[in-house]
Amino acid sequence: MTVIDIDGPDKRRGTSPAPATAAQPAEKPTLIGLDRDELAQALAGIGVPERQLRMRVAQMWHWLYVRGVSDFADMLNVSKDLRAQLADAFTIARPEIVSEQISNDGTRKWLFRFPPRGAGRPVEIETVYIPEEGRGTLCVSSQVGCTLTCSFCHTGTQRLVRNLTAEEILSQILIARDRLGDFPHGETPADAAVPSEGRLVTNIVMMGMGEPLYNFDNVKKALLIASDGDGLSLSKRRITLSTSGIVPEIARTGAEIGCMLAISLHAVRDDLRDELVPINKKWNIAALLDACRAYPGLNNARRITFEYVMLKGVNDSLADARKLVQLLKGIPAKINLIPFNPWPGSGHECSDWEQIEAFADVVNKAGYASPIRTPRGRDIFAACGQLKSESERMRARDRAALEAAPAGQSA
Ligand code: SAH
Ligand code: SF4
Repeated sequence: MTVIDIDGPDKRRGTSPAPATAAQPAEKPTLIGLDRDELAQALAGIGVPERQLRMRVAQMWHWLYVRGVSDFADMLNVSKDLRAQLADAFTIARPEIVSEQISNDGTRKWLFRFPPRGAGRPVEIETVYIPEEGRGTLCVSSQVGCTLTCSFCHTGTQRLVRNLTAEEILSQILIARDRLGDFPHGETPADAAVPSEGRLVTNIVMMGMGEPLYNFDNVKKALLIASDGDGLSLSKRRITLSTSGIVPEIARTGAEIGCMLAISLHAVRDDLRDELVPINKKWNIAALLDACRAYPGLNNARRITFEYVMLKGVNDSLADARKLVQLLKGIPAKINLIPFNPWPGSGHECSDWEQIEAFADVVNKAGYASPIRTPRGRDIFAACGQLKSESERMRARDRAALEAAPAGQSA
């Protein structure tokens, strides 16, 4: 399978990786990810007069989130002096792109590096773009690693390093739009509304690395900015947050973020779900489904997506399918059957295709839409549950290549 690797690890082979303990230069505070009040405070802090604050905040918001600029110099309707002051005090630069891979099915995967926070190290996370007929979905990460240990998920084998900040969550959207050429170019007047049709990133799913409801405040802040009508303007109906079932945060997700919800269900009996999704021992299936029933704003046009990974001989019997339908009675729901994406040492296999179809049949006949999620980007390890793993392996390979190379040789 063809994989185009731009700026990838090959390029890095010649450079020694920075020691993890190296002192990092102090970063200027960022303006990305601040809400309007925080942005006003930041501007007041560099002397922008009180009477101008509203106007300046609106101006910044437009440049940052409608036009997608990453350099103050491009803010054309801001005076040169103010631009210089802003650049002295703040940054709006994008994180470093370590690699960009394009799958033969058009899926793209980026590895981004974010600077250290406090005494920590730089961290790397992955974001995936999946183009489809008439829409494009960006799969965004919320944490580096995950505290949970779902048995079929590779991310779950990597310990939590830290939560991503609101800026880092938003940056994944901004930089993906940069790379896809999805921000408006040319002579559009600086304050013109930019139409949302024809965009490449139309949907956001919080289904990358990490459990978004264990990083609630930062995820909320980032998603409220992403859905702000004067900025990135992504409709909340096109933003889906996926959770393994952090029950106490589900009602807040509806009330405070208002996005669509996806639940990683994966089993219809508590004994099995305890094994596959161990957070079930804390909040079981009944508690989870109660929280779903109470999710604000549900109706037939706004349904909860239940994700169900198809594991051969584990959760894929037709009795399981019938039980699933029974359990979801009364909840406006879609069921998303996900063929298991294998990874070395997972101990699971993907169900046979005929079994997945037979399972889908039971669910369809009960009146539920149950699309089978086509695996995308498997050749670049961009599919569900595969994130981070390959980049870690590549790093190990790079290190081995570096160690094997005689001093001074670059590959
Ligand atoms: N932590 C959140 C969101 C990230 S996981 C959650 O668990 O919902 C996104 C989806 O990918 C989840 O439904 C997860 O169960 C699924 N997934 C994880 N590993 C997978 C694998 N190896 N194959 C297929 N789907 C997987
Ligand atoms: Fe974490 Fe979600 Fe993977 Fe479970 S499936 S380990 S919650 S990322």
